Amino acid sequence: MLETLKEELIQAAIQAEKDGLCKNKSGNFSAIDQKRKFMVITPSGSERKDLSVDDIPVLNWNGEVIENKSGLKPSSEWKMHLAAYETRNDFFAVAHTHSHFATSFAICGKKISPVAFEAYFYGWKTELADAFLPGSKELAESVKKPLQIADVVLLKNHGVLTGGKNSEDARQKITYVEDVAQLYFYALQIDGKEPTSIPEKQFLDYHDYCCNANK
Ligand SMILES: [Zn+2]
Repeated sequence: MLETLKEELIQAAIQAEKDGLCKNKSGNFSAIDQKRKFMVITPSGSERKDLSVDDIPVLNWNGEVIENKSGLKPSSEWKMHLAAYETRNDFFAVAHTHSHFATSFAICGKKISPVAFEAYFYGWKTELADAFLPGSKELAESVKKPLQIADVVLLKNHGVLTGGKNSEDARQKITYVEDVAQLYFYALQIDGKEPTSIPEKQFLDYHDYCCNANK
């Protein structure tokens, strides 16, 4: 079941790994069907490049595995993914990585200021969540409040999570978060002082510009 959703999920996970966002098999990706009844999620500790649709477990909304053809276990962080979908009706895919630059900001408990226009693509805001054990109920609960404010949550001492309208959208957003975190970090090294953030108004103007350009 949900073969297309699984295929899109695998492609996004492979690309994120190629882009260096998922070292040592870290991070996990999920997607849900349009009726929001089932979730497909990458299995834990798997080699992403070797994944086939049969390796992707399907969970119901209670977190019970209802299809698991290859016998691989769903990622231990599935509760956090479900919590993200419960909070955000507009998410149909969730990406979670331990990418180094974004995670470094999470470790410091510091939001990633939108210092480059790439931030537009993830809604330019990041919010922080407290540190909890990976895979725990507490960690899952901790992403709910930040996701009411921003599309991107920085998980203290852990990583970063975002969602989107499909797997590719979520993958692109988490890649842009890492890009902006990296640019921010380099700018700090060059100048030794806090880089200037792009004001929200400019993002809104940029939004109008992009919308009109597509008409
Ligand atoms: Zn994690």
